[in-house]
Amino acid sequence: MSGSPPRTMRALVKAEPGEGLVMREEPVPEIGPGDVLIRVHKTGICGTDVHIWNWDDWAARTIHPPLVIGHEFAGEIAALGPGVDKLAVGQRVSAEGHLVGATSRASRAGRFHLDPDTKGVGVHVPGAFADYVRLPAFNVVPLPEEVDDEIGAILDPLGNAVHTVLSFDMVGEDVLITGAGPIGIMAAAVAKWAGARHVVITDVNPDRLALAGRVTPARPVNVASEDLHEVMAELGLKEGFDIGLEMSGVAAAFEQMVDTMIMGGRIGMLGLPPGKTPVDWAKIVLRALTIKGIYGREIFETWYKMIVLIQNGLDVRGVITHRIPAERFAEGFDAMRSGACGKVVLDWGA
Ligand code: ZN
Repeated sequence: MSGSPPRTMRALVKAEPGEGLVMREEPVPEIGPGDVLIRVHKTGICGTDVHIWNWDDWAARTIHPPLVIGHEFAGEIAALGPGVDKLAVGQRVSAEGHLVGATSRASRAGRFHLDPDTKGVGVHVPGAFADYVRLPAFNVVPLPEEVDDEIGAILDPLGNAVHTVLSFDMVGEDVLITGAGPIGIMAAAVAKWAGARHVVITDVNPDRLALAGRVTPARPVNVASEDLHEVMAELGLKEGFDIGLEMSGVAAAFEQMVDTMIMGGRIGMLGLPPGKTPVDWAKIVLRALTIKGIYGREIFETWYKMIVLIQNGLDVRGVITHRIPAERFAEGFDAMRSGACGKVVLDWGA
C-alpha cells in the first residue's frame, strides 16, 4: 500500500430502476471523522444483490438508485479519517455491513444487531462492489493471517450461519437444516463442528445437495425424491430432531420441520418466506416447540466466534464454487440466478 487513493474507481452500480447493474467510473468516497477507506480485494455476491439485480418488489421499495451495491467483502485499509487511531493503513480487514444507530433501546444496551435504525451497506448507503468502500471504523473487523481474502469475503453469510447455529447448544444434538444454499451448507459444517451428532440437510435442488455432501459431513436429503422419515429411521432418530434450522423460506420445508421435531424441540428461522405463510400452530403448541427468529450477526460476538472457529480449523472454503474477475460480474450473477452454484466471489484485482 503506498500513496493516496485515486479520485475515481470502478464500481458496480444500480444506475436506475429496473433490471441489471452497470460497471462504471465513480468518485472514490470521501472519508470524514471516524471513517475508514478500504481498498476492496474480493467480494461475495449475496442473494440480496440478486434481488437488487432482478429489481423485484423488495428492491423497488428499498433501493434508491443510483447506488453502488454489495456488502460482502475483504480488503485492506487505504486511509483513515480523523480520530481513527486503533486501525492502520495496510491492515487486512472485513466489516459488518449493518450500520447501527446509537439511540435505540437495543443499541444503548449493546445489542447492536437488534437496532431498528440499522442501515445496510450496499442497500441504503454506498456498497462494497467497487475498488474502494467507506465504512465507520466501528464496523471494521481486522482479519488474522488464517483468514485469507476469499474467506474474508464470505464472513457475512458465514456469520449468519454461525449466529443461527450458536443460538442453540449443539453438543450431542440431532439437527435438521432445511435449505442447502450456501448459508445452509455452512450452517451444517458449523453445527458438526460445534458438536452435533447427526446433521441432515434438505433441499430439492440436486446441485446444492451434492455440494452440501462434498463440503460437509451432513447427510443431504432430496425431499422431492427421498422420504425424510426413512432417513430418520436409518439414522436411529426415533423421536425426531432436537434442533431445526430453517434456511429456505419455503412453507413446505417449515411444515416438514415442525412434523419431524422432538417434543420440546427448538427452531431457528433465518429463511425469509416471500409473504404470509400458512402455519399449523396447533402442532407447534402440542409439540411445545420454541421458535427463534435470527437476524444478521451478533455485533461483534458472532465475528469473534467465527474467526476463532476458522483459526481452529473450520473449513468452509468448499462452498465457494465460482471465482470471477469483477469485470465479468454478469457471469457471477448468471450463476447466482441459475441456482446451480455455491458462493460466487468476485476478484477486484488488488
Ligand atoms: Zn449477504
